[in-house]
Amino acid sequence: MNKEISQAVIRRMPRYYRYLGELLESGVERISSGDLSRLMKVTASQIRQDLNNFGGFGQQGYGYNVPYLYDEIGKILGLNQTHNIIIIGVGNLGLAIANYMKFEKLGFKLVALFDINPNIIGQEVRGIKIRSMEELEDFCRNNAVDIAALTMPKATADNIAHHLVEMGVHAIWNFAHVDLDLPDESVVVENVHLSDSLMQLSYNITKNFK
Ligand code: ATP
Repeated sequence: MNKEISQAVIRRMPRYYRYLGELLESGVERISSGDLSRLMKVTASQIRQDLNNFGGFGQQGYGYNVPYLYDEIGKILGLNQTHNIIIIGVGNLGLAIANYMKFEKLGFKLVALFDINPNIIGQEVRGIKIRSMEELEDFCRNNAVDIAALTMPKATADNIAHHLVEMGVHAIWNFAHVDLDLPDESVVVENVHLSDSLMQLSYNITKNFK
């Protein structure tokens, strides 16, 4: 399990988890590798190879046990534990993420919001108070903060990210439009650059339909 798994495999895992969750919701207990492959539009051999990275879960002639595989992939993704999240920057995007409840079902728990705008400090979003940035350090030292979502403007993102790392936050979900320059050994960063994604779409529309 300590073997280095490629990020390409890890990126495919949430999709397996989602499909298996849907199968479970429809009461499917067992699925052949061929049916799973058709459903997900991924070759059976790709599925086998991906799952073999974690020891493999299929049985010849039986297929996959859906609840078992769902739980195991959940464990691989660390979804069997709760992850406490804070959001820094409660503008349009930060607020939208704070209001998006679905993450909680996956074990991501929003524990605090931070901003510098005195007009919104003290307000609550879904019962969670918006705190001032002065409270950030104390909060991080006194609470288990697993993930910090950065939704403030890019100018301050790198500084704040460094500060978070010093306070022991090991994961950054970076929405700020900047590449953070952080020491790899002490923090993992997942970038969600929405405009980059939109630009890729723009490229593909231009190439295919214009
Ligand atoms: P969005 O970009 O999410 O649509 P917006 O356009 O309302 O938001 P931005 O200027 O991008 O506003 O700022 C997002 C939020 O980040 C705002 O609420 C702002 O007050 C807050 N913010 C700005 N600087 C900082 C900072 N240094 N630390 C924490 N929050 C900050």
